[in-house]
Amino acid sequence: MSRTVYVNGDYVAEEDAKVSVFDRGFLFADGVYEVTSVLGGKLIDFDGHAKRLERSLTELEMTSPVTMDELLEIHRQLVERNDVEEGMVYLQITRGAADRDFAYPKDATPTIVLFTQEKNLIESPAAKTGMKVISIEDQRWGRRDIKTVQLLYPSMGKMMAKAAGADDAWMVEDGFVTEGTSNNAYIVTKEGVLVTRHLGNEILHGITRAAVLRFAREAQMKVEERPFTVEEAKNAAEAFITSASTFVMPVVEFDGDAIGEGTPGPVAARLREIYLDESQKKAV
Ligand code: PMP
Repeated sequence: MSRTVYVNGDYVAEEDAKVSVFDRGFLFADGVYEVTSVLGGKLIDFDGHAKRLERSLTELEMTSPVTMDELLEIHRQLVERNDVEEGMVYLQITRGAADRDFAYPKDATPTIVLFTQEKNLIESPAAKTGMKVISIEDQRWGRRDIKTVQLLYPSMGKMMAKAAGADDAWMVEDGFVTEGTSNNAYIVTKEGVLVTRHLGNEILHGITRAAVLRFAREAQMKVEERPFTVEEAKNAAEAFITSASTFVMPVVEFDGDAIGEGTPGPVAARLREIYLDESQKKAV
């Protein structure tokens, strides 16, 4: 069945959804994106994603072709037209089409594309069994706080994980874990402290991360936002990841070593439950 896709102001059938070969998203990865999950036909954490999008655009001196209210309406239209109960809405804005030149063009019109993808997010098998993760060098650029479409290294990382018989990779820089290829990384120490890397240019400021840390603090958990090492991760009581499409997902193995009991831990399970409950209450 053909989906309805949004391209530069029009709702079109996916076969007719096209952008220019001169688009700077294609030529320079000069574009930003967001992924918002859909549960029960409603958008999870939409405000957070819209705010981060504005920040990414500002950092790259790009302007949004639509207002944030219009963006919400487009998201809702696509969910409705494609009858999405559970899955996600992908949004991408690029600087637009222009003659190839490294310098930003003065008068390019931004390209905006949105599409939906249906997926079972809640009943994911990994939520029950936990994930196996390997460590790899973080070889991405230095502005990981901007959510750009240059995702080749994360893509290579997922392939390295797959080749090693694992589900994903955590990236390591100067001995410290930065984050997962497409998610934020956490450990729970044997003393019960929840540790995740502090915000900065080195990681993406996850929207799910912000919500989960808020819920953890509200539940009186001790939280430390600081770098942690590969060794600390191996000796942790638990580990997990967060992202818009995985929510909170337990990690049970790191570089071949079992974490804790080698089974999903109670902190991850509790935070997943709280996140799912609270974010669905506020879904739009
Ligand atoms: N870090 C990276 C590198 C990511 O790609 C993502 C997901 N896009 C995240 C973290 C998680 O962010 P969010 O919770 O906003 O999905």
